[in-house]
Amino acid sequence: MTCLEAQSNIIAYIENGLDKDKKIEFLKHVRNCDDCMEELDIYYTMIEGMHQMDSNLPISRDFKAELEMRIDRELKQNRNKKSFVRSSVVIAVLAILFFAIAGYINFLEILYNDEQTKIKEQQGEYYYSAYFDDYMFEPEEKLLNINVEPEVTTEQSFYSKIRDYNAGKR
Ligand SMILES: [Zn+2]
Repeated sequence: MTCLEAQSNIIAYIENGLDKDKKIEFLKHVRNCDDCMEELDIYYTMIEGMHQMDSNLPISRDFKAELEMRIDRELKQNRNKKSFVRSSVVIAVLAILFFAIAGYINFLEILYNDEQTKIKEQQGEYYYSAYFDDYMFEPEEKLLNINVEPEVTTEQSFYSKIRDYNAGKR
């Protein structure tokens, strides 16, 4: 905003006739421009003084301090609003990042579990086939061999022991 624009907005500002964006632009200008601030101060004192005289009140106000307070208040309101908007944006971005990362980790976990299951399956198949393929492919003969044969042999030896014992006794 140039000094000319700022000075053409002075009266509108004092009468609360500027829209928000224009008001903030105007206030930032007068904060950094002594000429325009002086001009504003003069108009403010004049206009507010006339209002006071109209309402027959004694002119006892410190217009300059009043104006400074008003500018501070209005700039602060704007900053609060801005920082609120900014922090909302930051929160939204963080939330999106959080969900993206959480989703990615979840995805990796699924991949990992899938991989582990595959490895286990392969290992399982490997061990299984290494130890049991023989029995699985010829079940009748081999399974009979493991289960029945030892029993038969102990039985035989048991009977043969008895036979031997009886033979010795006689
Ligand atoms: Zn200026």
